[in-house]
Amino acid sequence: MRATVMYSAGDVQIENVPDAQIIEPTDAVIRVSRACVCGSDLWPYQKMERSETGRVMGHEAIGVVEDVGAEVRRIKRGDFVIMPFAFSDGTCVFCHDGLQTSCIHGGFFGTTEVAGAQAEAVRIPLADGTLFPLGIHADETLMASLLTLSDVMGTGHHAAVMANVTPGKIVAVVGDGAVGLCGVIAAKRLGAEQIIILGRHTDRIALAKNFGATDVVSERGDEAVERVRELTDGFGVHSVLECVGLEQAMDTAIGIARPGGAVGRVGVPQEQTIPGSEPAFYNNVTVGGGPAPVRAYIEDLLPDVLEGKIEPGRVFDRTVDLDGVPDGYRAMNDRKAIKVMVTP
Ligand SMILES: [Zn+2]
Repeated sequence: MRATVMYSAGDVQIENVPDAQIIEPTDAVIRVSRACVCGSDLWPYQKMERSETGRVMGHEAIGVVEDVGAEVRRIKRGDFVIMPFAFSDGTCVFCHDGLQTSCIHGGFFGTTEVAGAQAEAVRIPLADGTLFPLGIHADETLMASLLTLSDVMGTGHHAAVMANVTPGKIVAVVGDGAVGLCGVIAAKRLGAEQIIILGRHTDRIALAKNFGATDVVSERGDEAVERVRELTDGFGVHSVLECVGLEQAMDTAIGIARPGGAVGRVGVPQEQTIPGSEPAFYNNVTVGGGPAPVRAYIEDLLPDVLEGKIEPGRVFDRTVDLDGVPDGYRAMNDRKAIKVMVTP
């Protein structure tokens, strides 16, 4: 089968690899209907050291179950399913707590150990726990939004949950990438009264406003902090969604949180330390977040997608086939595309 293999920073190839197949009796194999390129795929795209074997990329997909192992009970051949970016058994203490990204038997797709979904097919470990069967047939108009439930929409939602967004709150979203844009959707959905997006790309800002952002701050650093304070009677915001992962973004996030506020961080951190320790301490700012348990959020978000109340699929502004994936990485890295969808 054909798949996307990354060998080093900037080196993404479409290659023939061994077919995805059942290895453990708890596995399934899905034929990928849609996959996509994640903002977090851009970190290895910028930094990965050369690997002789490479890494089959992609951790977001929807697809149709093609085969199941002997011990798979709940998932059936032909099911149309969402593949969350982490696999999980669905039975351990953390899965029961709705934190499937910490499953004691779990792990992540698109790593050197488990092949990813920017491919024709993908092997799903722990299929019964991992996959979410949609119980509907693939509907072309819904594909893009359903795909976002595998990561980006669930991740934006997680940022909002960790930042304690509730009705009436003043919210800021740091970052205008696809996760930040989904964070705007999530904040609005949870009842935020004012939503300030911090970003500077015209097309993304327009979409953010369409999703419910009320104010735009395009400054950076101290100027951004000052501008947000001006918009909030000098106090800062209740909830900050940090959707970037860089030091300056976190510094800004803590700088704009009001005393007693919270920062929900979902940008994969690129440094070992969290900046802003002193202001966070003196302002009693809660800092939380991590990899989103998107498997737990699908149930919550899916009805709104099916009813058309939210349309997170609009973050995709480019669609490619497998041969177009290397160009897709380039476009996202050059900020020429917000998020790229793949139709294998
Ligand atoms: Zn588990």
